[in-house]
Amino acid sequence: MAIDFSFPPEIEDIRARVKEFMESEVDPAQEKVRANGGDRKAWIEAIVDLRTKAKDWNLWLPHMPTEWGGMGLGPVGMAAVSAEAGKHGIGPFVLNCQAPDEGNMHTLLHWATDEQKERYLRPLCEGTQRSCFAMTEPEVAGSDPTLIQTRAYQDGDEWVVNGHKWFISGARGAAFAILICRTEDDPDIPQAGNSAFIVETDTPGWEIVRDVETMSGGHNHCEIRITDMRVHKDQMLGGRGQGHLLGQARLGPARLAHCMRWIGQAETALEMMIDRALNRYAHGSYLAEKQGIQWMIADSTMELYQCKLMVLHAAFRIENDLPFKTEVSMAKHFVANSLWRIIDRAIQVHGALGYSTDTPLADMLKQARWARFADGADEVHQMTIARNAIADWKDHGSVKAATGSLPL
Ligand SMILES: Cc1cc2nc3c(=O)[nH]c(=O)nc-3n(C[C@H](O)[C@H](O)[C@H](O)COP(=O)(O)OP(=O)(O)OC[C@H]3O[C@@H](n4cnc5c(N)ncnc54)[C@H](O)[C@@H]3O)c2cc1C
Repeated sequence: MAIDFSFPPEIEDIRARVKEFMESEVDPAQEKVRANGGDRKAWIEAIVDLRTKAKDWNLWLPHMPTEWGGMGLGPVGMAAVSAEAGKHGIGPFVLNCQAPDEGNMHTLLHWATDEQKERYLRPLCEGTQRSCFAMTEPEVAGSDPTLIQTRAYQDGDEWVVNGHKWFISGARGAAFAILICRTEDDPDIPQAGNSAFIVETDTPGWEIVRDVETMSGGHNHCEIRITDMRVHKDQMLGGRGQGHLLGQARLGPARLAHCMRWIGQAETALEMMIDRALNRYAHGSYLAEKQGIQWMIADSTMELYQCKLMVLHAAFRIENDLPFKTEVSMAKHFVANSLWRIIDRAIQVHGALGYSTDTPLADMLKQARWARFADGADEVHQMTIARNAIADWKDHGSVKAATGSLPL
């Protein structure tokens, strides 16, 4: 039988070490920062200290090849690491596999010239710099990158850029951005109008307007104004008009990486739901003994199971160079929505306590809300999934390929 859902022993060993590291080092450090008021400086100091420990535990940079100082894990191994780290707040930051740097590292590894890699990828891998990815604009729908209005025109050896971006995660403190802007007036296909540039954030003309305040506070998702910014032509990443290809290549695995972390969050919520149900007594029995509560536990358990299968299967397809776009779309949509439902049910079972900020659930719910539209809105993924299913039926008289190319 070729179907084997276990991890190879070396991945299982890494997963167990990540769990132990998170519980013995990361959790106590987080609790200490929170107990002392949790200001930004204290969090940064804690992350710097924990990163040294992560290196001592040989748990640094799991997603990058060993020649770049990483652990050389593929998407399946990363599912094991990210689902564990995703349960522990700053866990992914500590291992240096957090968004958006993780996606940017993959992008640079794939698209950058050797010189660009040394200059920009190396410090990201060493953890001495951070980066951001600047695509979305307030004036046009982020779901449709052919509408991007940030423009670059060539002037000798330089490109001159003007535009407006927002929700650029991690922009404050980032050493550079991967910036997507329009360079082509009359592309062969609408998607080929954009190019990518590596922009150092101290370049004149790059201005952080504000950290956009969200429903869960400020999290360094910045609005950026770009005015007559000059970028040398050697700073282009990939070729002219390849911004869309680069974004797609980046977003597939990056979306799945989000799903892996969300699985960790959903599992935490389900465990909290069960624990509360076992300990809360009302109307003659514990909540866990009541059918209404058991349905919530059962629905959440089934959904988490589906999430895990979908993510592992999509990771397997990426790792084995098989087409993965539709599997990633289905996983991203399903995990994002399951995450929301499972956390919501956990809050329901906790009652007023769940609505308070005494547990992490309220914060988790607010964070989970963006999962349903960032990195591809639900409806856009549904459009892709339906398009693939219809094409599969029309071309092959079957929906086998559209449903994961599984042997059933
Ligand atoms: C926390 C967070 C972090 C982010 N980080 C980054 C970042 O680092 N860099 C970056 O560039 N961007 C980032 N974004 C932006 C994110 O990628 C966009 O929000 C996303 O691409 C959607 O674009 P939009 O917000 O403009 O929504 P729109 O494109 O305006 O879409 C709004 C809604 O319209 C509907 N819709 C859109 N298209 C269709 C369709 N074809 N059919 C049916 N309905 C449709 C959907 O319901 C969608 O939610 C971040 C966003 C958040 C919330």
